[in-house]
Amino acid sequence: MVDLSLSRREGRELDTATEATVINHYDSIRSDPDAFVHSCLFIEWLLHSITGSEPSHPMFHLIREVLDNFAAGAPFWPVLCSGIEKSLRLSGFAMEIDRCTRCGGDPRGSSLWDASSGGIVCENCGSGNSERIPPGLIAFLRKSRSGRLDEVRNLKLWRGGYRQCLDLMRRFAEVHMETRIKLKSLSVLEALENDR
Ligand SMILES: [Zn+2]
Repeated sequence: MVDLSLSRREGRELDTATEATVINHYDSIRSDPDAFVHSCLFIEWLLHSITGSEPSHPMFHLIREVLDNFAAGAPFWPVLCSGIEKSLRLSGFAMEIDRCTRCGGDPRGSSLWDASSGGIVCENCGSGNSERIPPGLIAFLRKSRSGRLDEVRNLKLWRGGYRQCLDLMRRFAEVHMETRIKLKSLSVLEALENDR
């Protein structure tokens, strides 16, 4: 991770790097294939989802926190998914999990989801566009929103649950950011996991 200072002269279109300082080499990530591929996946996600060139301190701190957690070792999936959930909120694309995205009412125990309307849907408003998702995913997203990464990292989902969570967030982001999010690191991660 590098702290880079840029300056731009008036009328120019390119920045000039004036100072670069290494903050952390993250040797433990680079020496652990699991930590490395999860880190790549998170950074790849950000490359798709962060636009604009304004520096963002909250985003900077989030990236550092995610990498610090990866550097501390397994488990990686909860940190990855929570990091992505938090980055969506910082980018202005929060998933709605408290109010029905159609009527604004209390969704109560509903586990209906509609990516295009922005998140959870109450039982009354469910329609062909909504899908029933595992209630545990909604519970995880709520905990991710209110908890720190080092708390969230201990949350366990069922086998394949975090992969479902990633797919849910990816579909959501693709609809609202109007872009395809292709994640090359995901196939490397799958190959690693299938090899076990
Ligand atoms: Zn509703």
